[in-house]
Amino acid sequence: MLTQMIITSMAATFLLPKLPYAPDALEPVISKETIEYHHGKHLQAYVNTLNTLVEGAEYATMNLEEIVCNAPAGPLFNNAGQVLNHTLYFEQFRPVEAGGAAAPTGKLDEAIRAAFGSFEDFQKKMAAASTGLFGSGWVWLAQNAQGGLEIVQCPNAGNPVTKGLVPLLGFDVWEHAYYVDYRNRRADHIAALWQIVDWEVVAARMK
Ligand code: MN
Repeated sequence: MLTQMIITSMAATFLLPKLPYAPDALEPVISKETIEYHHGKHLQAYVNTLNTLVEGAEYATMNLEEIVCNAPAGPLFNNAGQVLNHTLYFEQFRPVEAGGAAAPTGKLDEAIRAAFGSFEDFQKKMAAASTGLFGSGWVWLAQNAQGGLEIVQCPNAGNPVTKGLVPLLGFDVWEHAYYVDYRNRRADHIAALWQIVDWEVVAARMK
């Protein structure tokens, strides 16, 4: 009984995910100041609010994805969604100097060619979906049940997991993601992000 209570209580406590790199490691694409606010302030606030909202509720024993897929529209969905979204977001980058593939390889490369024609066409469509999303939200590369890839625009805290899709790569188009470094130039921010995408992480998310 005691063990079960501890497990239940642990499941209800979400922690700030650790950054897999130093706060200044993504410069000049994303500044240390942006990372410190985005991860240390914005994401921490979503984590804190989520913990308050799930406490003692039926959601206390669910994991993040289950909460996102079951919560009604409102504060719980928004905060759980943002914790899930930002966890995927911060983990998908690597420092420019860390090297690594500049483009996808293997089965991710094949799936991108099958869905969009070429990697360059995929980049153009992802950029157009990012600049074309009015207001705040996310643009995702996602995998559908047939294994095919799609670009999905989600307003606010949305994540394609609610449509039965697997999120592979997420671009945060909330102004807090780029305003310090790029002011209103969302397109320039999105264009720069390609330099820091860790394609091994993205490919590992494929089912
Ligand atoms: Mn954000």
